[in-house]
Amino acid sequence: MDGRTVLKRDREKPVQQRHPWIFSGAIDRVESDAPNGALVQVVDYQGNYLATGYLNRRSQIVVRLLTWDVDEQVDTAFWQRRLEQAIAARTLPAGTDACRLVYAEADRLPGLVVDRYGDWLVMQCLTAGMASRRDEIAGLLAELLSPAGIYARDDADVRRQEGLALETGPLWGAEPPDLVEIEEHGHRFLVDVKRGQKTGFYLDQRENRRATAAYCEGARVLNAFSYTGAFGVYAGRAGAASVINVDSSAQALTLAQENVALNGCQPQEMVVGDVFQVLRRYRDESREFDVIVLDPPKFAVSQAQLVGATRGYKDINMLALQLLRPGGFLVTFSCSGRVTADLFQKIVFGASLDAGREAQIVEYLRQAPDHPVLLTFPESAYLKGFVCRVADR
Ligand code: SAH
Repeated sequence: MDGRTVLKRDREKPVQQRHPWIFSGAIDRVESDAPNGALVQVVDYQGNYLATGYLNRRSQIVVRLLTWDVDEQVDTAFWQRRLEQAIAARTLPAGTDACRLVYAEADRLPGLVVDRYGDWLVMQCLTAGMASRRDEIAGLLAELLSPAGIYARDDADVRRQEGLALETGPLWGAEPPDLVEIEEHGHRFLVDVKRGQKTGFYLDQRENRRATAAYCEGARVLNAFSYTGAFGVYAGRAGAASVINVDSSAQALTLAQENVALNGCQPQEMVVGDVFQVLRRYRDESREFDVIVLDPPKFAVSQAQLVGATRGYKDINMLALQLLRPGGFLVTFSCSGRVTADLFQKIVFGASLDAGREAQIVEYLRQAPDHPVLLTFPESAYLKGFVCRVADR
């Protein structure tokens, strides 16, 4: 142990309730000369032990907690145990070889994300505490899983808030090829683990893609914010009459094209563009669809962006509702943690009023089970969505 962090008076409750974050405002003083990333005991203002975590004075979240047991040593055996527990908790659906093995705080491994893509692992250390243990963790993962190789995607923006540089590169074993082929519910996808968004693929949408496929037989499908076309491939395989994928990234759509071919789907249209503009254009052209998927990026990164984000969500949902035939389905998502499921439902309600389209929610969707929500850390719930059926005229 490299010192202690003393909380201000009456700031111990969230810690006792096992929330894993200690913000700078709750802290009276840090009694430690150790570098950022070092372990500290967190004590209340009278010096009573509360929990153990790792430190980063440069972050707003000064301590991230690892254990509430004074006798539990945070050593190699600790990390191995936690990794084993997270890995053992995953059950892969049939025909699937890609999943999130470690979901950071929600798996009681703050700051650590590990995704499996077939024989390859992609690892992200998002905090100073994890960055300083990166090689140790990679070694443990190698022992536990014998992957072909482990690749670091330490280029997530949140690392800046921890004072960490953005970098990528092989950590252990062989370097993955430029495109790794994975399988998800029997669908095949090429994943750019080295340069793609996040760690290469939106694993959190796995079950929602399958749910969406159920509405796509014979349908004219618009897959907005398609990335590498995953929803489009499911729609194609489910017998969609036509699929249009729209994304601002030409690179993503090139890969989408390959994924469509890889799955033996009918050719699909790829539109490079801004979804806001494309939806407006389609509306002005009186186009009509049977199913529209809206899976935008996180519009609200901070609380300050919430109002703008709300407007953005409302705008695209209004346009999409106007483009659907009566009886058509809107599959709409928000992955902004700050937009709660309640708020999102209200936004879609507002959109339906503005669109002049009544709609019913027929399914509530959420992030896949390999992205669990820790009850003591409600921030781990971020992805929510609905399938809305547009009312008959
Ligand atoms: N549905 C995808 C994931 C979407 S991620 C899947 O299942 O894999 C969000 C995508 O939106 C990214 O690919 C990003 O390039 C794209 N994007 C962000 N802003 C956009 C905009 N204004 N118009 C079109 N695409 C946008």
